[in-house]
Amino acid sequence: MRVVLVQPSLEDFYTTPHRLSALGAFCVKSLLENQGHHVTLLNYPLVAKKPRPVKRPSWANHLEPFLLEERGPVSYFTGWYRWGLDTEEEARDILSHGPDLVLISLFAHAYSEEVLTLARACGKIPVAVGGAGVSVHPEPFVREPAVDLVLAGEGEVLFREYSLDDLLSRIGGDKLIRTSRYCTADEMVPVISETTGGRTHRQAATLLSRGCPRGCRFCSNSLTQGTSLRRLAPERIARAFRNYLAVPDPRGPRRLTLDLEDDNLLFSRDYLRDVLDRLSAEWQRAGRDSQDLFLTAENGLDYELLDGAFLEELADRGFRQFNFSLATADPGRLEQENRFFAPEKWRSHLAYLKEKGIPAITYFICGLKGDTREGIARTLQLIHREPTQMGISLFYPVPGLEGFSGSDPYGGVHPGLSRGSMAYPWSGALDTSALVTAFRLARLLNLMKNEREAVLHEDLILTILREKRLYTYGRDKKKIPVPMQDGDLVSLTLEGLTYPQTR
Ligand code: SF4
Repeated sequence: MRVVLVQPSLEDFYTTPHRLSALGAFCVKSLLENQGHHVTLLNYPLVAKKPRPVKRPSWANHLEPFLLEERGPVSYFTGWYRWGLDTEEEARDILSHGPDLVLISLFAHAYSEEVLTLARACGKIPVAVGGAGVSVHPEPFVREPAVDLVLAGEGEVLFREYSLDDLLSRIGGDKLIRTSRYCTADEMVPVISETTGGRTHRQAATLLSRGCPRGCRFCSNSLTQGTSLRRLAPERIARAFRNYLAVPDPRGPRRLTLDLEDDNLLFSRDYLRDVLDRLSAEWQRAGRDSQDLFLTAENGLDYELLDGAFLEELADRGFRQFNFSLATADPGRLEQENRFFAPEKWRSHLAYLKEKGIPAITYFICGLKGDTREGIARTLQLIHREPTQMGISLFYPVPGLEGFSGSDPYGGVHPGLSRGSMAYPWSGALDTSALVTAFRLARLLNLMKNEREAVLHEDLILTILREKRLYTYGRDKKKIPVPMQDGDLVSLTLEGLTYPQTR
């Protein structure tokens, strides 16, 4: 059977390469090819070098008062973009492959409109949809006449329990097919997916494990992967890496950053050591210099499970940057979110990294239920005091999380608003003004710690600190006050801050 497997083009203010890795789609491709099918994988968000500006949808109009023509280090998002082709072009391209079945993969429910629009453009060819974004809330796809099959669950289980002939024979009946279990470690498929590349460097992503037993309330990992941790056998990852390296690089040997996309890499040090040893051995077997293999964990390392010696070991083994996720540092919020907080460990890791000159980013979530301006200001200040850049994640719900379940998880609001860039007041704790202001403040505090950049924007920084009011650069690079800023949050956050900090 000829199958075209698609990761559709998507629209947003921004995206990151590792989000576009299509690891799930590559895994399904491998499973179907092993069953003898001819599979073409079209990862549309990565086809064009750059995203194109397109018209912002009307459901994002709540952001209108906060968006301005601005640039520079304290700005919010400005342009709405499309990564990939227009829907009609996508559909023409898909149909040109003569598929018997089009399988559309959705990694996050926030982009469901892109999937529904593409399904409608595919004409009479049978269309099935699946992926994490479908599994958490299949109902809108079941209701859509252009979708013939809705596949809810992990691909490794679905495509073992059902052959494609089984699936096609279901068309016309109950279109929702849901797995009743999660995949085992042996069923997992190792995938190395290349995301971006330049003249001297390329980037790829992989995933070693599934599931997490920790149960942080804001996290959707367990909704699609379950609560028991399963890990790919290290020798299978190594084989996948060997196969990846065996494909000649058209640009000649380039450095590689391999992102380990797992949420919980550190649960077993021996396992991680084994994997890293094997990756390094494969890299060297391919004749590559060990200094040219960089490792990252973009989804963040569980800093509580690290100690100084292991941090040092990971740095020696090729981690060139460390991402830590605090989630929240507000004591009242930690218990409610079932989240740990070990500030002394976090600080000592940052001190070590500073000494070694290794960059660190500390992430936190803003907009959780119960968040207050005081709590967010404290978290911003707490991270600002340490030798780390900060990353702010504006809370967005995934269907199935507490408060966002049932047949209408978004309470009648457009699902596209569950993009992190939307600053939508999902929990009701902070409004859009406070969320956008927190985002700008995080950028300002990062700027203040970046000596090389800060010196170029000293006037902007000093004006903001003096007036306790946010400014940005307008169209003609002139300083302009930020409209609709949350003055209380600005004052609380900037209280006591000086620039430079030693002055
Ligand atoms: S945030 Fe991380 S540690 Fe917490 S449940 Fe999710 S994956 Fe597990």
